[in-house]
Amino acid sequence: MKNLSFSYSKMGMYRECPQKYKFRYVHAIPELPKYYFAFGSALHGVMEFIYDPQRPSFPTLAEALAYFQNQWNQTTWEQKGYPSEDKELAGYAEGRREIEAYYQKHAATFARPLSVEMRSTLEVDGLSLISILDRLDYLGDGQVKIVDYKTGKTVQREPDQLYMYQKVVETSPAVKALVQQKDPAVKAVRVGQLAFYHLPSLTELTFERAPDREIVEFWQQKVLATADQIRAGQFSPTPSEQACRWCDYRNICPVFTGKDYTGPSGAAALPLLKGQPAPAPQKSTTVLPVAGAAQTLSDKIDRYGALCQEVQTLREEIINSLHAQHFTQHFGSRYKAQLTTTQKTVFEDREKVLALLKKYHLLAKTLVPTQSTLAALLTDPGVAQEVKDELRALCVTHREEKLDVEKTD
Ligand code: SF4
Repeated sequence: MKNLSFSYSKMGMYRECPQKYKFRYVHAIPELPKYYFAFGSALHGVMEFIYDPQRPSFPTLAEALAYFQNQWNQTTWEQKGYPSEDKELAGYAEGRREIEAYYQKHAATFARPLSVEMRSTLEVDGLSLISILDRLDYLGDGQVKIVDYKTGKTVQREPDQLYMYQKVVETSPAVKALVQQKDPAVKAVRVGQLAFYHLPSLTELTFERAPDREIVEFWQQKVLATADQIRAGQFSPTPSEQACRWCDYRNICPVFTGKDYTGPSGAAALPLLKGQPAPAPQKSTTVLPVAGAAQTLSDKIDRYGALCQEVQTLREEIINSLHAQHFTQHFGSRYKAQLTTTQKTVFEDREKVLALLKKYHLLAKTLVPTQSTLAALLTDPGVAQEVKDELRALCVTHREEKLDVEKTD
């Protein structure tokens, strides 16, 4: 029998929701691109570029930044999964910041690793276990250090991932061959240390090798047990608020459609598209344990929507009446309404603003070109007056009205 293609991320998806795994790996329906994966992948690429064992010397910061820019520009913001071009630009600025900070902290002590982005497929226990090791450092005496880069908001111990790495590294003939190139006397590879390196905060979390007993338990109770369930075709959905909220398959998921997905057929076969509202869970006579609760939720959402609409209409009527009578405040029998008008400066022509920032090398200074960071440039003593004048010419002033209503008794 053919080995089951397996990886840490596949196991994670199955354990999160077997139905989701089925959509992704049995029906082979791709998920939508996610900007955080694109960002992480770009920074992993830069780390690979920096530590590439084939390069005669380490790249300079300028070379690393140029490499990052080149890689980043290979795809559009939509392809990366960013919600807008502005957000993509902010991601790019954050990437540059992290690379610059990394160089500042580590450039003086860069050392040649054993391997970078080592992709291996380990045939073991009926599995083709695919793994990518971000960086392997040789510690001597057959011991290696596994470094895994993290680019999310925070980093925490993920025992399953650590166990998986340890199992792969200590079992893989490819890793052993690599170590023996360096040290032919080595008979067996052993993990000396595992590290999660968090690039946004330049923090390294290190872990000792896990005892063999824990690895055996993990392997049997999680990896092999999960693989058995997949082989047995057990793909019942396990809906949860957290999992379903971010799931791309809601519009074809039985929990939400009330019927089994039978394969690709027209639009229903596609994962949820960006900006497309999630379908309401269906009222169903079939065996959906959440259907009753889901319908109650749908009713509440409809009621809430209708109330919001009524509130909006009332708000507009009150503001119009206050204006008509030249009031800024007025009283009901139990509530007071206060109207506040403010002027807001907005940079609307994004293209012109970006061109100006590029022209005067201000992109790095704004880091993230939002309305407030752009407005801050207008009072920044480090920005020349003529640049401020050009920037100010791109401002549009809007009037904003705020209606506060509070109880008087
Ligand atoms: S919508 Fe929820 S239950 Fe359905 S596949 Fe996704 S995570 Fe699973």
